[in-house]
Amino acid sequence: MDVEQFRKAGYLAIDRICEYHHSLQERSVLSTVKPGYLKDHIPLAPPEEGEDFQVIADDYQKYIIPGLTHWQHPSFFAYFPAACTFEGILGDLYSSSITNPGFNWTSSPACTELETIVMDWAANLLGLSSAFSHTSGVGGGVIQTSASDSVLAVVVAARTRYLKDHPNTNLEDLVIYTTTQTHSVGSKAALILGLQLRSIEVKAEDEFSLREDALRNALQDDAKIGRKPFILIATIGSTSSGAVDNLADIREVVQDYPYLWVHVDAAWAGVALSCPEFRSVLHLQDINAFVNSICVNFHKWGLVNFDCSALWVRDRKKLTEALDITPIFLRTKQGDAGVVVDYRNWHLGLGRRFRSLKVWFVLRSYGVKGFQNHIRKSIVLTQKFTSLVNASDELSLVTRPSLALAVFRVVPKREGENQVTFSTESLNNLNRDVFARLSARRDIMLTQTSLNGIFCIRFAVGATRTNEGHIQDAYNIIVEEAKSALKTWKS
Ligand code: PLP
Repeated sequence: MDVEQFRKAGYLAIDRICEYHHSLQERSVLSTVKPGYLKDHIPLAPPEEGEDFQVIADDYQKYIIPGLTHWQHPSFFAYFPAACTFEGILGDLYSSSITNPGFNWTSSPACTELETIVMDWAANLLGLSSAFSHTSGVGGGVIQTSASDSVLAVVVAARTRYLKDHPNTNLEDLVIYTTTQTHSVGSKAALILGLQLRSIEVKAEDEFSLREDALRNALQDDAKIGRKPFILIATIGSTSSGAVDNLADIREVVQDYPYLWVHVDAAWAGVALSCPEFRSVLHLQDINAFVNSICVNFHKWGLVNFDCSALWVRDRKKLTEALDITPIFLRTKQGDAGVVVDYRNWHLGLGRRFRSLKVWFVLRSYGVKGFQNHIRKSIVLTQKFTSLVNASDELSLVTRPSLALAVFRVVPKREGENQVTFSTESLNNLNRDVFARLSARRDIMLTQTSLNGIFCIRFAVGATRTNEGHIQDAYNIIVEEAKSALKTWKS
């Protein structure tokens, strides 16, 4: 393809992307394709001779779009949102147009320097202390692919730090601490690194938050048997219920265990720190006071297209000491002089995409106020949903709503009115049926979870086009399916 052909194909692509976004509302959220559908349309081997790009672009429309789950659909309430803004798309387009794998400063000064600047901007947006900024000269931020990669990088850094301070440690004694509500990021890191994992039980009555006693008891138990916990992955906004670990409690404990690295996984909820009114409930003060690292996925609820997982560390040397491998072909004058950031030492891979462009575009185009409005709007819409649930005869919240996440289940009103109680298993069966009915639909998407043996349905808001009408429609659909399920339910 030459430049003129690209110009033509590019204009067409933009037109079609606009059309796609325009038509989202008319599409169903979920696709109707069956597993293996694409094999019937795409040959098993690439073509011998190059094809006309118009044909290729048309095949994207014909075969790929019908197989998509439309995460940007206003009735997508599953998982957590995956951000998509036009500013983000343009950032990715420009980034792709230059393909600068900015692994060190020399390989792309702009890629490196823009990332350090926008990570400082983002830290500022979230109210993080200047200790996490590059300007501090000690801390700093880096964009990773995912929260899982961020955890992996900090576990490696924490392990290196621990072993440096405790050189006689047996590797088999090292333990990663998580809770029963931590995302699989913790167990995945343990699996990859061959480390032990301790998943501390958190209780429903504590709203699934890690509290002082549970952490202290675990540390004392492990000390007795010679195990060496060296990192705790605390969560601000858990996947199942939006639970927030009590960082004030953790801070108390860590005073007695200063070698425990505390990483905060705020992959979903972290962007809400942009709004001052949520900072205290999300423990910003404690984050700023003592945690070693924090990760916030802007690509979830934070308007920046996938992928963009921001990781900040209080002491960047801890990352670079653990991850720096510098063969001669990667050495540069500026790197040797230590006057630049070489991001290759801040993450697992070497090459890296120019992701800061899309963050820069989004933060400039939305501004702090626009960013905050997006967060607040999702929370207000969630409140609308939860008030409908609270007034409902069929639905009941399982946990206190957390920001833009509500977790509910179907509980027949009879239970409350006539003091009839149903067994957990019976209610779980009912709710599994309701969820199966909802999942069979194409016009809405939600996900399931389980909390202390209770089967629940999650309702996560955050797509930019969702409005009150979609919330009301979603509620109506859920109630319709709940009523159908109740008709056949054998309590
Ligand atoms: N942490 C939390 C709280 C999450 O909800 C998720 C994903 O939903 C993750 C981590 C994992 O994110 P990633 O896909 O970026 O690894």
